[in-house]
Amino acid sequence: MRLDIKLPTFFPDATRGVIKSIDSLDLTLSGIEGIIVNTYHLYNTPGIDILKKAGGIKNFMNFNGTVISDSGGFQILSLVYQNSKLGKIEDSGVTFFQISKGGDKKTVFMSPEKCIETQFDIGSDILITLDDCPPRWKESKKDIKSHINRTIMWAKRCKDEYLRQIKLRKLKNKPLLFAVIQGGEYKDLRKYCAEQLIKIGFDGYCFGGWPMKENGEFNIEILSYTAKLMPQGAFKYALGVGDPASIIQCAKSGYNIFDCVLPTRDARHKRLYLFKKNPDKVNILNDTDLFEFILINKEKYKDDFSTISNFCDCFTCKNYSKAYLHHLFSIEDTLAYRLATIHNLRVYSKTIELIRN
Ligand SMILES: [Zn+2]
Repeated sequence: MRLDIKLPTFFPDATRGVIKSIDSLDLTLSGIEGIIVNTYHLYNTPGIDILKKAGGIKNFMNFNGTVISDSGGFQILSLVYQNSKLGKIEDSGVTFFQISKGGDKKTVFMSPEKCIETQFDIGSDILITLDDCPPRWKESKKDIKSHINRTIMWAKRCKDEYLRQIKLRKLKNKPLLFAVIQGGEYKDLRKYCAEQLIKIGFDGYCFGGWPMKENGEFNIEILSYTAKLMPQGAFKYALGVGDPASIIQCAKSGYNIFDCVLPTRDARHKRLYLFKKNPDKVNILNDTDLFEFILINKEKYKDDFSTISNFCDCFTCKNYSKAYLHHLFSIEDTLAYRLATIHNLRVYSKTIELIRN
């Protein structure tokens, strides 16, 4: 493995090449070492021509960290399965039907090969195969098997295209290629999918699909089981996981890469993550009562001039009070999003640092 990253690691979602309200310097200030971008969204805007001219997403964003590109299987395919007006999925690839604001209709076709070529153009360090993510909990076991078979077939085509692109581009620094293990809540299907993907051979393996049970509980059992199927020494990526406590649970099960929209989306919804006690003084892997959250728009914070958290060393906590953040949210100033996002990301990066130690 050639990629030089510290593990475990957490990547916030910069779907369209930006984390809303913060820039690359803010990311570094928050202790964030990498981001995940979305292939399909970047393909649409700004478009591959622009990204190529810019010299890739890192140059474009002025970001020096690690970049993962998600193929888009998770969100986008599940949307298409829910609403056939949004597109169709066939063995050849996915066709998306787009309607512009002006009402113009356009179709975009994404094959496994095009998905990989696009990720090379984006300039990611880690590419992810196009996978066929089954819709949530609605499917029979037989139906899920058909999604798995397509996921495996697409993974093989992605690997072939990956090898072809490396030859074609004469790359010295090869990106890594990860594949996605599907199978819903069925252990035998997860096992079958993992075995077939391992035969093809990838640098890393991802847990794909929904990490929650239908009742909303975090499904650590299927995540742990799937981690054990992944080869020793491979990167193990829990896609879309999760809140800090879930990340700790997954890290204990062997996962070493995480991404999630929660810290940044919650920040914009006034939900701030806090350590309940000094995180440097607990065993983070065994403490089940370490995190809480506050809603900063609550009335009681309007004249609370204390820092957001005594256990946080972020830019926001060092410089601003709860009352000021409360005020910024109440007048809907965009600075509120920035300061809240920096803080929540720091809680995540601190959690990751403590797991490493
Ligand atoms: Zn903070």
